[in-house]
Amino acid sequence: MTSLPLVFEAPRRGKPPRHLADLDPAGRRAAVTALGEQAYRADQISRHYFGRLVADPQDMTDLPDASRARLVDALLPTLMTPVRTQECDAGTTRKTLWRLFDGALVESVLMRYPERITMCVSSQAGCGMACPFCATGQAGLTRNLSTAEIVEQVVAGARTAARGELPDGPAPGPAPGRVGNVVFMGMGEPLANYAAVVGAVRRLTQPAPAGLGLAQRHVTVSTVGLVPAIDKLIAEQLQVTLAVSLHAPDDELRDTLVPVNTRWKVQQVLDAAWRYAAATGRRISIEYAMIRDVNDQAERAHALAALLRRKLVHVNLIPLNPTPGSAWTASRPEDERQFVRILRAAGVATTVRDTRGRDIDGACGQLAASP
Ligand code: SAH
Repeated sequence: MTSLPLVFEAPRRGKPPRHLADLDPAGRRAAVTALGEQAYRADQISRHYFGRLVADPQDMTDLPDASRARLVDALLPTLMTPVRTQECDAGTTRKTLWRLFDGALVESVLMRYPERITMCVSSQAGCGMACPFCATGQAGLTRNLSTAEIVEQVVAGARTAARGELPDGPAPGPAPGRVGNVVFMGMGEPLANYAAVVGAVRRLTQPAPAGLGLAQRHVTVSTVGLVPAIDKLIAEQLQVTLAVSLHAPDDELRDTLVPVNTRWKVQQVLDAAWRYAAATGRRISIEYAMIRDVNDQAERAHALAALLRRKLVHVNLIPLNPTPGSAWTASRPEDERQFVRILRAAGVATTVRDTRGRDIDGACGQLAASP
């Protein structure tokens, strides 16, 4: 029995519709020719999607009417629809709640800084890592996103920015708005959805018409520390920034804050991070949520400094964004200052992250996607 080409397969139940952004250029040409269209149409439609950020098929005027409908149906299905958009920080932070084809909900956050525009994307609907201080972690995992569902969040943000809908704020930003940075710090554990995330990184960083043409160095993948997946990522030979959510220097505390630590210990996670740094030459970003009287003591700062001293690393302290119903809150300012001082005195580059999006529950770890 001859099997039908993939393109004729009806979208399977439970699987997001197949989209241009799921395919590499060769896959797109194959899909287009399977529709009875000329292969070069794949490049045309890719240029519209990735290069010109065209949202309305009517604007794809170089495609003849009949072909356009066929191509758009087959390659640009609607992947997500906006449910709600919220703004804060004088409009420079914008959170969107999206409904996916099966009703699953995810959020993305677009942030304009004086010198850059950053898109924070979700890689999963929900998350299975169950970190007790994170709003997403409380709800559990709904499902993995497809490559195109991840890419589409960035393309949607890029369209918003290009339309000039993101005000400059107090300092004028890059003109006209261009999304230059992507961080996988929305909902989900990116390395638990490995293939789709690496596919998305490739799409985001390949030049148009293959992809969106972002610099690999401007993409950050943030992980709880899934060690085998970090090693797999090393083998991809990408230049993306790796961020490790450490949150504690000792296994006893980290076992409770990042439950997957019971599987891969602090030292194993850091060793994997140093392998990543050695292979890529990229500085590792260590994320550390500052939780009052939980992980912000001077002795923990010293322990963290001892682990990180002389490594290619940068520490990002994130004041805890308290989640509803949690007893935990952000560190006292004096404890935060002391923590920073101890790390810097040990020669460990350290900054405190600004807390964009707090008013709209769009800050780190607050994405919970209630409709
Ligand atoms: N699963 C990935 C991405 C999570 S979100 C990861 O764990 O790295 C990005 C960062 O926000 C992570 O470091 C995460 O631990 C942190 N975070 C989650 N909830 C938070 C909260 N309530 N306050 C501050 N940071 C939080």
